[in-house]
Amino acid sequence: MSKYTIGIDLGGTTMTAGLVDENYKIIGKTTWATRLPRPAEDLEKALADLCRTVAKENKVDFTDVKYVGIGTPGSVNFTTGFVGFNTNFGYYDWNLGPDLEAMLGCKVYVENDANAAAYGEYIAGGAKGYKDAVVITLGTGIGSGIILGGKILRGFNFAAGEMGHNVIVKDGIQCTCGRKGCWERYASASALTRETKVAMQAHKETIMWKMTPDLDHVNAKLSFDAAAKGDAVAKSVVDSWIEYVGVGIANVINTFEPEIICIGGGVSNQGETLLAPVRAYAENETKNITTGRFPKIVACTLHNDAGVIGAAALENSI
Ligand SMILES: [Zn+2]
Repeated sequence: MSKYTIGIDLGGTTMTAGLVDENYKIIGKTTWATRLPRPAEDLEKALADLCRTVAKENKVDFTDVKYVGIGTPGSVNFTTGFVGFNTNFGYYDWNLGPDLEAMLGCKVYVENDANAAAYGEYIAGGAKGYKDAVVITLGTGIGSGIILGGKILRGFNFAAGEMGHNVIVKDGIQCTCGRKGCWERYASASALTRETKVAMQAHKETIMWKMTPDLDHVNAKLSFDAAAKGDAVAKSVVDSWIEYVGVGIANVINTFEPEIICIGGGVSNQGETLLAPVRAYAENETKNITTGRFPKIVACTLHNDAGVIGAAALENSI
């Protein structure tokens, strides 16, 4: 039995393949530019080459690779390996899994990238060793992956687990999904950046103006950095944003009661500065439902490797 698998994190800018061993350790990685736009068939050939290359570079015969897993943006039918719609790439009805299987001569699993990364955290990262876990990624939007009893919760049409699009403010801020007031409009990293800019424009006295050249350079880290220096305006922005994060985390707890919730995205580098108040808020909100035994709330640990490792372990997620 082969002990290697290959996991691919396919993004709009780069695609990374990792050769992964049976302990979910990355033996070696290769990253190429995705070079979009390009025809789907051309990209499939590049993906096949990338797989063979990462095996060769790490002195593993490709016939010793048990299977290939791919995490891709878009709506993915895990059963057929069919990518229904992918805005980033401009493909409709992309037969990725079967096409790549024909090119490589091995089994290919295809999964949504957020689910693949969440599964990586589950199998080898912050949620390793737990049975039920939810992974929340605070980025441009809010990604979420729900793993119950070792299996990814996919839904009958593979669109389950979109915690970011649960409405927390009726008739609130317009979301890209068509609804108004979704959690990700209030608690994503981009929401924090947006609120930081609003607060700066209202408060010329905040030191945030001295910490950034202009509003275009404001990011999700600025308010945390300024709050750490004692800036009251920044602290108020951070505190308010953290409560919105806490609202959604409390919803996760009341819905799934997972043993552990992993929070990822660049802003999770804030560590306990973020986690401690989120934990306090969510615990207070859910104490009468959970009867006082709360899930662990921790930061993700695999960062950019989560997608590769999760993809390389997809056969276990079924
Ligand atoms: Zn939405």
